Amino acid sequence: MTAGAPHGPVVVLGGGLAAVSFAGGLRSGGFEGGIVVVSDEVEPPYDRPPLSKEFQREGLPDKIRLDLSRARDVEWLRGTPACKIDTQRREVLLADDRRFGYGALVFATGASPRRLPALQDATLPVITLRTLDDAQRIRAGLGPGARLVVVGGGVIGLELAATARGLGASVTVIEALDRLMNRCASTTLAKVVAQSHLDHGVDIRLGRQVMGFEGPAIVLDDGARVEADLVVVGIGVVANDELARAADIACDDGIFVDRLGRTTCPGVYAIGDVTRQRNPISGRFERIETWSNAQNQGLAAARTLLDPTAAPYADIPWYWSDQYDLRLQVAGVSMGDEEIVRGEAVPGAKFSLIQLHRGRAVGVTCMNNVREFSSLKRLLGSVPLPDRAALADPGTDLRKLLAPPMAR
Ligand SMILES: Cc1cc2nc3c(=O)[nH]c(=O)nc-3n(C[C@H](O)[C@H](O)[C@H](O)COP(=O)(O)OP(=O)(O)OC[C@H]3O[C@@H](n4cnc5c(N)ncnc54)[C@H](O)[C@@H]3O)c2cc1C
Repeated sequence: MTAGAPHGPVVVLGGGLAAVSFAGGLRSGGFEGGIVVVSDEVEPPYDRPPLSKEFQREGLPDKIRLDLSRARDVEWLRGTPACKIDTQRREVLLADDRRFGYGALVFATGASPRRLPALQDATLPVITLRTLDDAQRIRAGLGPGARLVVVGGGVIGLELAATARGLGASVTVIEALDRLMNRCASTTLAKVVAQSHLDHGVDIRLGRQVMGFEGPAIVLDDGARVEADLVVVGIGVVANDELARAADIACDDGIFVDRLGRTTCPGVYAIGDVTRQRNPISGRFERIETWSNAQNQGLAAARTLLDPTAAPYADIPWYWSDQYDLRLQVAGVSMGDEEIVRGEAVPGAKFSLIQLHRGRAVGVTCMNNVREFSSLKRLLGSVPLPDRAALADPGTDLRKLLAPPMAR
């Protein structure tokens, strides 16, 4: 038994990436006690990023399974949700009436897609994209000649739009705001992404709301009717935090956690998309809905559960997205009062963007520029901002420019 290990089994709610990463981290850290993972999905754990990309092209569930080899000797309970927790008795109740006592409880319950009330009773298929089942239903409706309408110009909707174009579907994207990727990309990046979609024949309607439907068409607020065989709604997610809220654990669309993954209730932790944590760049409590956060916050929580003196989790948030031949990587926050453009920001080009706020680097974006990403990410730490002209020059060797003074 390791120093800070809980007395009694560790029960994890949710069986996605954060849960798998956490369980693997506990075992790698030497934890020999019981681990129970409760998942409401029947499917063995799988990776979500391929659902809007490779899986739509290939349709191979076995290719997207998560690697469970590190998560040894875990009791997986699949197909039954947890429906209540009792933090006094340290007990979890499942929907099938089974009860489990816990030494430590970990919320890894992720998030669920927002629904669009205007299309609630639509007669055409309206699907959100979160689960393998959603992805399979979408895949069944795509193909040459299919008419896809994507509601929401965020990352997941745009990835699906790009994949669907590759499969020969016609695609319309409807976005309520006046630009794409409003929450997660700078204006410069959003313009390049929008132009790429236009170049691939996507019909983009910005500043438009869906009002309802008429037979096989959806109706927009300017009166336009867009005929569709399939509508995919990608308008964001809400945290699956209802059991925590019911147990009086502090939540606000997400369970508040500190840098050790602790909630406001002793013995209860939370990791992944369900958490609301302090973003080390913005300083605000935010939900960080990325693959790298689910994985690394899960690992960090396992470390701190075993050793409360372990280094707190303070990873800089980042995500990637693949659309057509664009590979974009974004770290930090994408808003600022100044932007340095390294290269030419046009579709198909390789370029990087650095967002500054009051002279401090707060965000970096790399487009088709994977090799520069880890160097540029260092700007978001404590590295002093180098000469701006040198930074903007794509010919400057970043490894030299950003190397610590001693190493130069
Ligand atoms: C289509 C798609 C594409 C994506 N692409 C990218 C990408 O390119 N790059 C990137 O960085 N990120 C991407 N992401 C985001 C990334 O996949 C998520 O951040 C990550 O999967 C979150 O993992 P999680 O374990 O926290 O939550 P989840 O994977 O959502 O797992 C939570 C699990 O808990 C279950 N659950 C909920 N309530 C209960 C309950 N009461 N009892 C039992 N089980 C419960 C849920 O059903 C779910 O199975 C994508 C996400 C999607 C959906």
